[in-house]
Amino acid sequence: MFGAIYGDIIGSYYETHCTKEYDFEFQKDSTFTDDTVLTVAVCKAILNNSESINRWSVRKRGLEYAGQFRQYYSYYPNSGFGNMFSEWARCDNFKIDHSYANGAAMRAVPIGYAYKTIEQVLLQTKASCYYTHNNREAIKAAQAVATAVFLARKGESKQNIKVFLQNLFHYDLTKKLEDIKENYVFDSRASYSVPPAIIAFLESTDYESAIRNAISLGGDADTEACIAGGIAEAYYKDIPKHISDFCNRKIDYTLKNVILDFQNRFCE
Ligand SMILES: [Mg+2]
Repeated sequence: MFGAIYGDIIGSYYETHCTKEYDFEFQKDSTFTDDTVLTVAVCKAILNNSESINRWSVRKRGLEYAGQFRQYYSYYPNSGFGNMFSEWARCDNFKIDHSYANGAAMRAVPIGYAYKTIEQVLLQTKASCYYTHNNREAIKAAQAVATAVFLARKGESKQNIKVFLQNLFHYDLTKKLEDIKENYVFDSRASYSVPPAIIAFLESTDYESAIRNAISLGGDADTEACIAGGIAEAYYKDIPKHISDFCNRKIDYTLKNVILDFQNRFCE
């Protein structure tokens, strides 16, 4: 479960200092951001209630995810949240937002670990999007990330993961990272930024290369790396010690405890 968080931390510096260099340095100013905070909020929502839902209870379950998003926003309001999300989280009542950005995809990794069937992964992810990203492209992207994690942790091959995601979500994952990278810019639309993060994983050879691929796209680096790193950890089941040593010092104690609880309960 730390794969997504480490990706966020290492990518955080390069969100504002975009790079196309694969061999970039890890920066001491790196810090966890909203990607981490909301990933932990999803962990908390699942720890509080891991019951399966059906398609008639998506909205009700959505309220539980949304409650945790608002709670965790209130703990860490200055960790890089976008204006739209901040406004939503501060609003007196639970309104439904229709963001088409990658914010629901960046926090979807835990869902791929916690549930036993693809159907449940898809429903839970939809519920997690209900109040903030009630938009077709945003839901699809979040579901693609959670599904990739689900398949990766089950030991599916990259080829199977790729074909499955292409068939279910109609993403073109055959593009080469090198070609995407050439004209890639910072744009947090889910439909623009999530497929390249998945390809960053598909073209990787280990955990570290997945986050290097993602960050050196030169875009929304923390989120790209959070997604690629989350899938990569589920697939490779191993993170180099120099990365965990670098990042562990930078994670708030409270957040770390929630992730450890979640890991103990849901990750083999
Ligand atoms: Mg961020």
